[in-house]
Amino acid sequence: MTNRRNFLKTAGLMTAAAALWKPSDLFASSPADVKGAGKKLDLQWENFMGKMKFTFNIAGSSRTETPIVITRITWGGKAGYGEAAMPPYLGETQASVNEFLKKVVNDVLPKFDNPFCIQDIMLAVDKLSTNNTAAKASVDIALHDLVGNIMGQPWWKMWGFDPNKTPYTCYTIGYDASDDMVNTKIEEASWTHMIKVKLGMEEKEDKRMINLIRAKRDTPIVVDANQGWKDKHHAIDMIGWLAERNVQMVEQPMSKYKIDDIAWITERSPLPIMADESCQRLTDIRGLKGAFTGINIKLMKCTGMHEAREMLTLARALDMKVMIGCMTETSIAISAAAQLSSEMEWADLDGNYLLGNDCFNGMKLVDGRITLEDKPGLGLTKKPGIISL
Ligand code: MG
Repeated sequence: MTNRRNFLKTAGLMTAAAALWKPSDLFASSPADVKGAGKKLDLQWENFMGKMKFTFNIAGSSRTETPIVITRITWGGKAGYGEAAMPPYLGETQASVNEFLKKVVNDVLPKFDNPFCIQDIMLAVDKLSTNNTAAKASVDIALHDLVGNIMGQPWWKMWGFDPNKTPYTCYTIGYDASDDMVNTKIEEASWTHMIKVKLGMEEKEDKRMINLIRAKRDTPIVVDANQGWKDKHHAIDMIGWLAERNVQMVEQPMSKYKIDDIAWITERSPLPIMADESCQRLTDIRGLKGAFTGINIKLMKCTGMHEAREMLTLARALDMKVMIGCMTETSIAISAAAQLSSEMEWADLDGNYLLGNDCFNGMKLVDGRITLEDKPGLGLTKKPGIISL
């Protein structure tokens, strides 16, 4: 009986303590403890080859796998996962990411005793080199997952975003020279409410792809020209033709080096024109105002979630539209990007669906719509037996 009474007393105290708990309780009051009570930020990583379900064709390249590096940061018994996904055009490799992460371990992490100062940690990570944006993102994403796990909250909630406003994800129907193959892909994409098509080829092929889809589906389409159109007059003619076929938006109509031509197109276009290859990071956005209607944020280009959040704010302040996209990524980076998705006009977060060997469960699509669950961090669960990290 006494034991039970003591238990209830203790339990009551514990409940009261939990109610008064605040993040700063993670540190005690002594100066040494404020620095993290001797806990160390530990970064590990593992190379991983993402296998695509289909050969992926875009203007200028074709591939069947994507090199990925999975990262994990631990602190005080908690862990967070991150990822660098590297399509060839980013210019990063598993070897370059491994080298970069060694520098993070040697030169950055020893200066920080806790993961909460993401802003300062990422400033220091960013200073290590001018590029390596995917490698940087792999640190940023792991830090966000870790901090969310420690706080016991998802990032969409800590940022104050409404999980009921999430968009449908675009799903890409890849180019194929065979009508039969394209028709198969259209059927496999029957669940999607927003089709994405990669154009920027010859006019005949571009129109064939749209006509094949429109023969079977009237679902809204977004088009990504991937810098493929060479002439602004051709581009604006194509955009007019697309606008008559329930296309909602066109991404990167021409080369990022032809900003004046793109501005000319945007001025005349009946559809929003979004910057992808032209927009890597926060500092690019101001120069794109006027030339594009909006920007496509991708974590692998912009060094991760903290800068993506800043890009969203700046683009909105400049009255620009915002979408969030991805590379071929596992559920780690897709779930990270999904945290921002409710603030986006469009979300193109199908990367994990294109992978045959996703190593995590994370953000789920329900009837093609991005869903944000009330789970800590990025809401990840590791699938057994795929990676050892
Ligand atoms: Mg694109």
